Amino acid sequence: MALKLSLGGRKALVTGGSTGIGEGIAMALADAGADVAINYLNHRQLAFDVVQQIEYRGVSSLALRADVSKASAVAAMFEELDNQWGPIDILVSNAGIDGPRALAWESDPAQFERVIATNLFGGYYCSREALKRMVPRKSGVVVSVSSVHEVIPWSGYSAYTASKAGLGMLMKTMAQEAAEHGIRVFSVAPGAIKTKINEQVWSDPEKRADLKEKIPMGRIGSTKEIGRLVAVLASDAGSYVTGTTVFADGGMTLYPSFEHGG
Ligand code: BGC
Repeated sequence: MALKLSLGGRKALVTGGSTGIGEGIAMALADAGADVAINYLNHRQLAFDVVQQIEYRGVSSLALRADVSKASAVAAMFEELDNQWGPIDILVSNAGIDGPRALAWESDPAQFERVIATNLFGGYYCSREALKRMVPRKSGVVVSVSSVHEVIPWSGYSAYTASKAGLGMLMKTMAQEAAEHGIRVFSVAPGAIKTKINEQVWSDPEKRADLKEKIPMGRIGSTKEIGRLVAVLASDAGSYVTGTTVFADGGMTLYPSFEHGG
């Protein structure tokens, strides 16, 4: 029997869905037939463009503004969603920032806090609101968008790496708690994907060449490749996946500096 990937009739929320990887995920979920609400913070116009593109696909969409680093704003966003759509089936907790580059001992504690507040607390607040609603219904999928920097240290980005590593254990613990309620919780960890967040690297020929050295497959990934993976894992094709991080990184986590022995 052919594998049919369908999210028809499911409702999803993608945080940070107006740009980058979040946009790619929102489109892929819509392509698979889900209704997709997107959360945004600053990019109102881009968010409404994404809503329009989702609606072109024949499914429903919504744009919801909220700062995910604030528990009360996240609670209000979920209440708005309850009022407009009722409960969601899929949360993709994607909103994230990397913060300014600085060695840990030279970094600004306020910036460190901002990154942790958005990435880790934001992931927690959104997952908490989603799980509260999923547990009584005994079904749902919670996806966290992590990074290869969940496991690869990254000089200059201690807050970012700490937030992604923290998200990993948050995801596993929530997966353990929610499994008996029929809910799956997992992370997808992209490597270098061509988006605004790393534009200063891929748009500079020297930095781009250096980046490719770090990727055994020798190329940067696309937001579409991450979106499709999330859609597959969130669908029934991923029905036995929970409590784990799936890396989509062209082999970045394979320690390519050891490629030829050493
Ligand atoms: C970062 C990107 C970076 C990639 C690989 C991601 O988590 O946001 O800026 O290119 O990791 O290092």
